[in-house]
Formats: sequence, C-alpha cells, structure tokens
Amino acid sequence: MHKCWLHILYVVLVACILFTTSGCRSSRSLQRQPFVLVVDAGHGGNDQGAAGRRSLEKDINLKVAKRVCKLIRKKCKGVEVIQTRPDDEFVTLEDRAGMANYFGADLFISIHSNSSRGWAEGTETFIHPSACGSRSERMARLIEREYVRQGKRKSRGVKTANFSVLRNTRMPAVLTEIGFISNRKEEKFIKSKRGQKKLARCISDAFARFREEYP
Ligand SMILES: [Zn+2]
Repeated sequence: MHKCWLHILYVVLVACILFTTSGCRSSRSLQRQPFVLVVDAGHGGNDQGAAGRRSLEKDINLKVAKRVCKLIRKKCKGVEVIQTRPDDEFVTLEDRAGMANYFGADLFISIHSNSSRGWAEGTETFIHPSACGSRSERMARLIEREYVRQGKRKSRGVKTANFSVLRNTRMPAVLTEIGFISNRKEEKFIKSKRGQKKLARCISDAFARFREEYP
C-alpha cells in the first residue's frame, strides 16, 4: 500500500511537471494540446515476468522502455511521455491502464519480452481483438515493420489478444514483444546494450511515423 501511494505520487508529480512545461510551449503555439504517450514496461518488482538464462524479463523491458522514452522526448516535439513504472517496482495491470486513462493518453505502448518452451524467435505485437483496422493496428504494423527494416529481426506479425492492458485502456494501445528471452541467441540480443538501443529506435521511429500519419 505504502509503495502504491509513492508510485501514484511519482506519476502525479511527473505529469504536473510535464504539463507545466508543455503549457509554456503551447502558449506560443496557440494552446495546442500535447500528444500524451504512455510507455509501459511490462512486469516489475516481485513480478519478474519470464526468465532467460542470464536475465529477467522485467529488467529488459524497463531498459528498452526507458530508451524509448528518452528517444521520443528528444526527437518528437509536442509529445508528453509518461512511464507507468520508472523503476523496478510492482504495478498492477489495472493501474497501468488506469494511469493511461486518467491522463487522457493518446497512445499506450506496453513493452514485453516473449518466452516459449521451444526454439521460437522473433517479434510480435498485439492489439485487442476489437481494435482491428484501428489506429492500434496501424501502430502495431509500423512497429513490426521497423523491427524487420532496421532491427533485422524476424517478425511473427501483428496478433490479437484479450490482454488486460489492451482491454482496459480507452485509447489506441499495443503490446509489443521484442524477442524471446527463452531463445539463447535472442536473449543475448535483447539483453545487450546494442540490441536494446536498436529495438528502442525501431519503436520510437514507428511512433514518429504514427505521429506523421495522425497529427
Ligand atoms: Zn511479459
């Protein structure tokens, strides 16, 4: 409970700072509302997600999510970026979606690492079954396209799933699996700085394209 309140306090503080600074900028550009992007690093705290041989999913997700936020803050003007968890902490699935709804987000991107018993490899991005043909699907396709184009990853495509964060968010939302932590070769890539930089660039470039298409 204590940690939960600290977390809410953090998010409110970040949002206040972001909206205050954006207010300064927008006063010049005729009060244009900033685009609000919520970036969600999957799992955290005692929920470690999938485990690889040498890494945990929650750590990889957080590192990639942080890089995505950094790149977008640097490159995309008029975008306020909010992280559902800035650190290694537990946040419920309901709170992740709730946060995005509370801040009136325009887009929600959840970042995860995949796992399977076999030798599966590649990326895949999920949208809610009710979101086919929507902006969510477009964003998912843009992400998968960048994974192939500049990430040189094997894409397993865009898929649908009734995941909690996709079901409970009231804005375009995607959940992207950046690779299989259960696959030795892919784990090496997604846990490396080089791999994480590349994956973050794919996601942020896809976002930049999405913004161009839906200004
Ligand atoms: Zn996960």
